[in-house]
Amino acid sequence: MTAPKTAPRSALVISAHAADFVWRCGGAIALHAAKGYEVTVLCLSFGERGESAKLWKQEGMTLQRVKDARRAEAEQAAEALGVHDLVCLDLGDYPLELGRADKDRVVEVIRKVQPSFMLSHSKYDPYNTDHMYATQVALECRMIAQAWGHNPGEKVLGAPQLYLFEPHQTEQMGWKPDTFLDITPVWEKKRAAIECMQGQEHLWEYYTRVAINRANHFKRNSGGQSGGRDCKYAEGFESIFPRTVDEL
Ligand SMILES: [Zn+2]
Repeated sequence: MTAPKTAPRSALVISAHAADFVWRCGGAIALHAAKGYEVTVLCLSFGERGESAKLWKQEGMTLQRVKDARRAEAEQAAEALGVHDLVCLDLGDYPLELGRADKDRVVEVIRKVQPSFMLSHSKYDPYNTDHMYATQVALECRMIAQAWGHNPGEKVLGAPQLYLFEPHQTEQMGWKPDTFLDITPVWEKKRAAIECMQGQEHLWEYYTRVAINRANHFKRNSGGQSGGRDCKYAEGFESIFPRTVDEL
């Protein structure tokens, strides 16, 4: 059943750390926000221990100051991308661990958002187990949000696709994209969000190159030299669930 026409469509990103959503699906967020989707970003942690090396190199740094700095960056990036709601659960990182009550908070967010699609990390990531753990959490909480017996009376979740965004060391993660999204129209917004990540300046050019490379895959798979669509920047995704179609 489709949602009533008046209800805005929505999407949910589940990000292990505060900056992940920017590098990996900032284009998807900005593009869908521009199309009228209400995109919620759920950051399970700030990445304060494991993804803030530049801040920790400063004199007199404390955990709280790192968290505050990462939150401020995430808020600026969310603003640049047109995020509808940025939810930071502050559950700690390296390692990220969720108890039953924390998972129930994630389920609550999923049910409130009722996303048309969800985004999270690759299934496997030996460099960063927080990332693959976030995906397990996303799948578990998606399942619970679909259960009629969980908080009966609440609106249960349909069957949103879970797209896995591109990890950092792509080939090591067993990540195989099956979807390429043209983000050329919103590239400037993604780049602006990337530049909010002052603590990780070493990644700015890298993720620009990733987007240019994925644009080549978009062009090739949309027809290449035989009428393919031009594309300057793209993001790749691996989908977990099959599509249901009437025509191929
Ligand atoms: Zn991360």
